[in-house]
Amino acid sequence: MKLFDTLAEMGHEEVVMCSDPSVGYKGILAVHSTKLGPALGGTRFWQYATDEEAITDALRLSRGMTYKNAVAGLHLGGGKSIIMGDNKTKDREKIFRAHGRFVESLGGRYITAEDVGTSTKDMDYVNMETSHVAGLAGKSGDPSPVTAHGVFRAVQASAKRKWGSDSLEGKTVAIQGCGSVGTHLAKELHEAGAKLIISDIDSAKAARVKQLTGAAIVEGDAIFTADADIFSPCALGGILNETTIPKLKVEIVAGGANNQLLLERDGDELEKRGILYAPDYVANAGGVINVYGEVAGWDAQRALNKADDIYDTVLKVFDIAEAKHIPTYEAADRLAEQRLAEAK
Ligand code: NAD
Repeated sequence: MKLFDTLAEMGHEEVVMCSDPSVGYKGILAVHSTKLGPALGGTRFWQYATDEEAITDALRLSRGMTYKNAVAGLHLGGGKSIIMGDNKTKDREKIFRAHGRFVESLGGRYITAEDVGTSTKDMDYVNMETSHVAGLAGKSGDPSPVTAHGVFRAVQASAKRKWGSDSLEGKTVAIQGCGSVGTHLAKELHEAGAKLIISDIDSAKAARVKQLTGAAIVEGDAIFTADADIFSPCALGGILNETTIPKLKVEIVAGGANNQLLLERDGDELEKRGILYAPDYVANAGGVINVYGEVAGWDAQRALNKADDIYDTVLKVFDIAEAKHIPTYEAADRLAEQRLAEAK
């Protein structure tokens, strides 16, 4: 890897390789941008096959956070950190305290939080060494109600653009994934008068949502062919791809899952099929809004109110897409870049 060429191309400000062999700690802190504020993004604890793979992930994820935070209208830049190793290890305090010391060494240019492989308890260890950490136990708490509310607003905005009204009364929404986000979203949609079709590989989770909302349950891939108006992915990434997109009967895709498009060309394909796509990182920004609320000292209601703005942001993305004749996933990037350019 030509590291400095890559940093220049991707626009990173700073990438720190951190090592404390005395506690078995190997970490990477990637600060992509602090133009809009301190770089915020979680700590991913993962076993990578090679150092290069870990660096590539840190670079990609930190840049993604810059775009997500910029589009969400937060005073935050983008960053991410990686701890390389077995995330099931029981020996966590010394690893996360080492991580905390390196986060502290950046003097607040980078704020960390939870991500894949880490928990609120791990962040408590980080917090023993630095105050530049969010997502702590007893603070902003579970982000999923705020994330779900933002997704709900993205669904409403998409309905407004597609059908001229944001009423969801009588519309059918197919939700893939009845976990934290999917369950809260199902409740809001049900209250708004939508009919629901749901799926989850965990049948107990689907049964619970059925009980709460009267949703119809389908198994496995049947969620893609469901007779619905809107598809809301709330499980895993990569589920919009060349196999699934041809099956969709919906007019809108808007959900909470990260990285829904397997490839960029899948976003182009949705466009070609006339399916309106609310870009994932715009729709699911409630999670980061919730973390920002913790850093800024907001109460839970203020975070929910901020997630309301996702409605206007999604409409702005659709406007850019229309004006520039580009797919909506590209328009979201343009909106983020616009905000970053204005900050200069
Ligand atoms: P979760 O683990 O609580 O829920 C995910 C659910 O999806 C689980 O119930 C799981 O059984 C189900 N699932 C997995 N594979 C499936 C499949 N093939 N078909 C149907 N169901 C399947 O996770 P969550 O917190 O609800 O997050 C859901 C998605 O939203 C993830 O992609 C996550 O990265 C993203 N996200 C979450 C938040 C948040 O605040 N929790 C914020 C931003 C983005």
